[in-house]
Amino acid sequence: MSTRRDFIRKIAGSAITAAAVPQALMAGNQPEGAALKVAIMGLGSYGNRVAEAMQACTRAKLAGAISGTPSKLAAWQSRYGIAEKNCYHYDNFDEIRNNRDIDAVYVIVPNALHHDFVLRAARAGKHVICEKPMAVNAKQAAEMVAACDKAGVKLLVGYRMHFEPKTLEVIRMRKAGDFGKIKFFQGLSGFNIGDPTQWRLKKELAGGGAMMDIGIYSINGARYMIGEDPVWVTAQETKTDFVKFREGVDETIQFQLGFPGGAVASCLSTYSLNNLDRFFLDGEKGWAEMLPSTGYGPIKGRTHKGELTQPHITHQTIQMDEMAAIILDNKQPVVPVDGREGLKDMKIIDAIYEAVKTGKKTELSL
Ligand code: NDP
Repeated sequence: MSTRRDFIRKIAGSAITAAAVPQALMAGNQPEGAALKVAIMGLGSYGNRVAEAMQACTRAKLAGAISGTPSKLAAWQSRYGIAEKNCYHYDNFDEIRNNRDIDAVYVIVPNALHHDFVLRAARAGKHVICEKPMAVNAKQAAEMVAACDKAGVKLLVGYRMHFEPKTLEVIRMRKAGDFGKIKFFQGLSGFNIGDPTQWRLKKELAGGGAMMDIGIYSINGARYMIGEDPVWVTAQETKTDFVKFREGVDETIQFQLGFPGGAVASCLSTYSLNNLDRFFLDGEKGWAEMLPSTGYGPIKGRTHKGELTQPHITHQTIQMDEMAAIILDNKQPVVPVDGREGLKDMKIIDAIYEAVKTGKKTELSL
């Protein structure tokens, strides 16, 4: 892969002076064809965070917006210089098919809407980035993978931690054998959810409760920290507030995952506790702790060898640049971020809900 950054790095290290660097490159403008042109769908809290972070991207460019709120579209046009012809509503966005200014649609709407919008974006011939959880169950996720395969477009899931430098260092150390045989992982993921009227507490929009929203970080984290896919799950639910957390909206679930190499993960997903963002990995020769482990950062981490010192980079900036390289250059990330990776997490979530219901160990085949 050759990126604008690589190019600048190369010439910076050569005899060519900064004055010789083309102005467009130094100024952050993209040479024609080098950037992934992205339309963000859903201009809510996270959509805004991604848009802001993309201003520092070198390979991904915010080129369009899709929203049900005209005033937000107008604001984004002036704030980010988005052309009016690159703005859509949910009912006309299929026309994006004819828009050569857009290469990819980034779906950042409530969970239950991901499936339909990803299918429509794929049918329009656009690559798709979809927020986590990619769907509300594995059946939907499998359909999304199949639809993108059929349309010949890439489907990526917004797993920003897969590009986070300290996380990648722990994964490197684990692969190098620094921790020895991995025996145990603990994942604690949760926060105290506020406004009881928000979509995250509505089954029809969220698909579930804390597990869909925040517990998924411990599921996904267990897999990338241990480096295997689980083969069984057990789970127990606790509910203390039956008004706020209605039928189908989980407040707190503890779950355990068993891995083929013998490691076990013990995890907690909750909407009723603050300060819960910790990963702990234990092996026969060493350990790693990430605290916080998945928030927007800076992530902090230490191992039996000392503090992790990798720099903090805005997660969504590095994510979008790396995703541009995956889509445009077929770059292979250290930890996959494709639809099949997201589908695995959805199968695990289905199995966790099943295990809560039956009280039994549920076998997994990912
Ligand atoms: P918000 O409620 O802040 O924004 C969602 C946006 O979706 C709305 O502002 C709206 O935008 C659009 N929307 C379309 N239909 C609906 C509907 N029926 N009800 C509500 N909103 C609707 O949510 P978030 O931005 O926090 O979350 C969106 C997605 O991003 C979720 O899947 C979530 O899990 C994921 N997320 C991921 C994070 C990460 O770190 N990877 C962090 C936070 C969220 P408009 O007015 O433009 O139509």
